[in-house]
Amino acid sequence: MSLPNLFASRISGMKASEIRELLKLLDQPDIISFAGGIPDPALFPVDAFQAAMAKALGGGNHALSLQYSASEGYLPLRQWIVGEMAKLGVPCEAGNILITSGSQQALDYLGKLFLSPGDTALVGWPTYLGALGAFNAYEPRYDRLQPGGNRSVQDYAAAAAPGRVKFAYLSVDFANPTGVTLSQTEREQVLDLAEGLDCAVIEDAAYQSLRYDGASIPPILALEVARKGDINACRTIYCGSFSKTLSPGLRIGWVCAAKSVVNQMVLLKQAGDLHTATLNQMAIAEVANGDFDEHLEKLRGLYRSRRDRMLAALETHMPAGVEWTKPEGGMFVWVTLPKGMDGAKLLEQALKTEKVAFVPGGAFFADGSGANTLRLNFSSPSQQAIDEGIARLGRVLTAALVP
Ligand code: PMP
Repeated sequence: MSLPNLFASRISGMKASEIRELLKLLDQPDIISFAGGIPDPALFPVDAFQAAMAKALGGGNHALSLQYSASEGYLPLRQWIVGEMAKLGVPCEAGNILITSGSQQALDYLGKLFLSPGDTALVGWPTYLGALGAFNAYEPRYDRLQPGGNRSVQDYAAAAAPGRVKFAYLSVDFANPTGVTLSQTEREQVLDLAEGLDCAVIEDAAYQSLRYDGASIPPILALEVARKGDINACRTIYCGSFSKTLSPGLRIGWVCAAKSVVNQMVLLKQAGDLHTATLNQMAIAEVANGDFDEHLEKLRGLYRSRRDRMLAALETHMPAGVEWTKPEGGMFVWVTLPKGMDGAKLLEQALKTEKVAFVPGGAFFADGSGANTLRLNFSSPSQQAIDEGIARLGRVLTAALVP
């Protein structure tokens, strides 16, 4: 008997990434790792969560917090999100919001909602690895989304035949993995393309609140609402998350979109996990209604200083020919090495000789290209670790570049 022979065809697209397996070995204390992508636990508002959990469980509230609840999500939390979306230029109602178990679940459900095998998803080259992981289960083809590029709507449509383009997925602010932010013009261009192709736009706003400098740019959904005057006429589906601001472990994210999309996703949610953990939603709502802005300021202050430290260290230690992005927020800097260099091989070298780690960039490309790229995380390591780790990385790259 071989049960794997019985697995559905969709499973063949779901592979453990070799890099992730390798990165699991990084727990040794003397390794400096820029490979993570997680918030600094020192910034979790633990006191506020303790009080919020106590409130949600006390005074008879357990009858609500420990009980099954609505698939759409906890209403006070959805209402708080309505207020936040309004600040971003997206007037909407609670009926436009679905609470998900992290924004990752939203990506899975959106793959399930839109993709039949052979349909095309437009994604960046590179893009968020977890989005590819979520979509792969629905057996799509991928094409490269290049906002402002010179490909026509007809060209994108022809490349998708005999299937069709169902959506363009993109991370708009300080993207994972590149740290790059889409300009307002590029956001408008994505909308124009989606109009031309008559496809959806999945706007991944996981890092939206983590801006350290520069002026904020309206979400694609806000630009579309400005065009159409009504969120229920919009093709953009906005995915938000509390993971980068409050806690990834509580697994709370949301979708803000036209009711026609939200209502269908509610059915997927009912079939998938009934609803997001009630207690966690109540705790997040309580903490979000507290000193959230003050908390965000603290978070931004610390991450900004780490970002600055990393950019300064790169300037000091990188050999000629190496380039990197200068993100206005988020958690990542993206490094491009001279052509022909291989990030995966360099990682082996870096671990062995200098005990420094990063994520080789190739895994973020749907077409398997991008071997000469790396992703560096600056939200987890301390400033001292950043200085020392980038110096080590500089030595590894200098040694690899000198013949
Ligand atoms: N989108 C992006 C771009 C991310 O980087 C992440 C987390 N790494 C997610 C979505 C998923 O986050 P969560 O499910 O914790 O909300």
